[in-house]
Amino acid sequence: MSRLVLLGPPGAGKGTQAKLLSERLGVPAISTGDIFRANVARGTELGRTAQRYMDAGEYVPDAVTNAMVRDRLAQPDAAEGFILDGYPRTTDQVRELDEMLAGSGAKLDRVLEITADPEELVRRLTRRAGIEGRSDDTEDVVRTRQQVYLEQTAPLVSTYAERGLLRSVDGLGEVPAVTARLLDALASDAG
Ligand code: AMP
Repeated sequence: MSRLVLLGPPGAGKGTQAKLLSERLGVPAISTGDIFRANVARGTELGRTAQRYMDAGEYVPDAVTNAMVRDRLAQPDAAEGFILDGYPRTTDQVRELDEMLAGSGAKLDRVLEITADPEELVRRLTRRAGIEGRSDDTEDVVRTRQQVYLEQTAPLVSTYAERGLLRSVDGLGEVPAVTARLLDALASDAG
């Protein structure tokens, strides 16, 4: 039960929860956003490509993102499991992830959706901008990211529901309460 995807709108708490679940479950949390930001900070070619999309609140092109995830999942620490935070985000990425896993004879165990009220998320993210200084947490860019999520990523919820993999969890409340809900959702067999 350790190949997991976290889905949810920007600000729902995927990053925080992925790290906590990673400690609990002993598998790496893999955040595509963190990998892109690390590349921007190091000034790599990948970082330069990604930055203009990230600053605009748009998705980095699938070909770039898929190749990066393929490399990361091939690392030995991901062989027994992983928590994907922020990937897949498009139907093309879903298809690619299916292929990557099929190639190593593995399959996803669960997709956990963290839900939250959009207006609360705008408040959370603009507050985070003051703390973490992320350039894509300004109100305008946050609203673009929400719109992109609705158009490109929200449809993945039903894709994974149809496969019987989806569990949805309320993301409002204290961090430990949300972690407990996620662990409950992992333990439950019935949808
Ligand atoms: P995040 O930290 O998950 O909010 O991601 C920050 C930004 O990185 C996003 O707004 C996108 O520009 C880019 N990004 C992260 N993950 C993906 C992905 N799976 N596909 C495309 N772009 C991504």
